[in-house]
Amino acid sequence: MSRILFILVLLLVGFLLLKSHQRKKHLQQQHKQQKSSSGRILKNTRVLRCQHCGLHVPEDEAISQGGKHFCSLEHAKQHLTKS
Ligand SMILES: [Zn+2]
Repeated sequence: MSRILFILVLLLVGFLLLKSHQRKKHLQQQHKQQKSSSGRILKNTRVLRCQHCGLHVPEDEAISQGGKHFCSLEHAKQHLTKS
C-alpha cells in the first residue's frame, strides 16, 4: 500500500515539475516577445489623439483624413459629416 502511495507521489511531483517547467518556458517566451514588440512601438510609432472621441491610438492604426486623426473610420466619418 505504501509503495503505491510512493509511486503516486512520485508521479505527482514529476507532473508538477514538468508543468512548472513548461510555464516558465512559456513566460520567458512571452516576456521576450513583449520586450521586442514594445521596444519597436516606442521607437517607431507615434501616438495620435482621435479628434472625435479623444482616444489615443498608435499612428499605424489611426485613420488620417484632412490632416486630422481618428481611432476608426467610423469616427472619421462622424466627425467629417458634423463639421
Ligand atoms: Zn474615436
